[in-house]
Amino acid sequence: MEELNPFKIAQKQLDEAAKIMELDEATHAMLREPMRTLIVTIPVKMDNGTTKVFTGFRVQYNDARGPTKGGIRWHPEESLDTVKALAAWMTWKTAIVDLPYGGGKGGIICNPKEMSDAEKERLARGYIRAIGRFIGPEKDIPAPDVYTNPQIMAWMMDEYSKIVGYNAFGVITGKPLGIGGSKGRADATARGGMYVLREATRYIKMDLEENAENMYKPYEELEKMEDSIPKENAITIAIQGYGNAGQFAHLLVTRLFKNAKVVAVSDSKGGIYSEDGLPFKKMRKTKQNTGSVINYEAKKITNEELLELDVDILIPAALENVIHRDNADKIKAKIVLELANGPTTPEADEILHKKNILVLPDFLANAGGVTVSYFEWVQNITGYYWDFEEVYEKLDKKMSKAFWDVINKQKEYKEKGKDIHTRTAAYIVSIERVVKAMKDRGWL
Ligand code: NAD
Repeated sequence: MEELNPFKIAQKQLDEAAKIMELDEATHAMLREPMRTLIVTIPVKMDNGTTKVFTGFRVQYNDARGPTKGGIRWHPEESLDTVKALAAWMTWKTAIVDLPYGGGKGGIICNPKEMSDAEKERLARGYIRAIGRFIGPEKDIPAPDVYTNPQIMAWMMDEYSKIVGYNAFGVITGKPLGIGGSKGRADATARGGMYVLREATRYIKMDLEENAENMYKPYEELEKMEDSIPKENAITIAIQGYGNAGQFAHLLVTRLFKNAKVVAVSDSKGGIYSEDGLPFKKMRKTKQNTGSVINYEAKKITNEELLELDVDILIPAALENVIHRDNADKIKAKIVLELANGPTTPEADEILHKKNILVLPDFLANAGGVTVSYFEWVQNITGYYWDFEEVYEKLDKKMSKAFWDVINKQKEYKEKGKDIHTRTAAYIVSIERVVKAMKDRGWL
């Protein structure tokens, strides 16, 4: 049976890179486990007068390169292993884009869909009171993730500010604009993925035509543009998942590139396919008005079929472990842009690499979110706020450099006679940076 426990997968990926790098035992051991794991109980007064006790986690995986950084998830099936895995991935993600951060993650076991806003606010504030002394702009900086949002971040920042006695905007990112939020945060993940995709197509000489005029335009402006679907020389794209990441990917890929044609999209109810292309505006309206993309007039397909379509670019933007050893051989795309976290299993990685498919690994492809979070923190601590263009331009630089760092590492190893896939190459770039920081600090 293929191992699907997220933390075991994270360790396995690290082990593989460590072996190739010939990492010494102590350094490897240091990177295999989090430096600090906090489990807290949070009593919350519910609207009906009872008190409910919630369990929360905060994992600070490695802080050699700077304060730890990572989102807070609210989920009924949250587990320490998931939070640990995500904290490990945040360590590699912040390092791959060379942010002065380490990796962390948090979570609360709860079902926000069954909670009122007032209960959510009390839970958010209770969590911060529980972990308050362990976080801070110079220590550990949370952000939104699954089922948390800018409003929850605002309550958390406010509670922390009350504890320390001043406006500590830099303690949390993903805040609303006006109380320290950054422009460009909403579409940052997909936007960063697009800049990586552009470099990847240059690398493999896929003829994806850049629309330079739109490259740094605010997403609100792009949303107003009419859809124009290319008829000739189209580069075809399938997107799995139509939430924040998937919808922005659809918008951006069709506005930042002239000949991009999205032919398939899906959500938890299933998928649809159209050879003629799916227009963004109508798709989003269908999703908003009916709850699912499948209500759009087009051929119905399953989520499994979507992954196996004969397209140029596949964008998993939903769940983990969707590309595994049983379907990897059937993937036909030339590029897999992993906006989702952990969509490809380690066994599938090997198969895709042998098929010469260029995988843009999650912690590189979706690092745009944390990069703009970093920009938000920089703006908070300097008190000077940037325009959309400035945010996107700086994001582009970070993402493009990270892509080429990975490709160059892969080439370097090839010259040494080691044929490694891109995820391993990305791991090596990140691990080298974290190890250097630990060694320079005299930890090892
Ligand atoms: P979201 O909740 O907004 O959207 C998730 C989408 O996936 C929804 O459309 C849902 O219907 C769909 N989905 C659920 N089950 C599915 C299934 N079985 N098959 C196909 N689709 C299914 O989430 P999001 O913020 O867009 O995040 C998606 C992925 O991207 C996650 O892995 C997340 O960790 C990753 N990610 C997101 C961000 C971000 O800034 N939003 C940053 C980094 C990574």
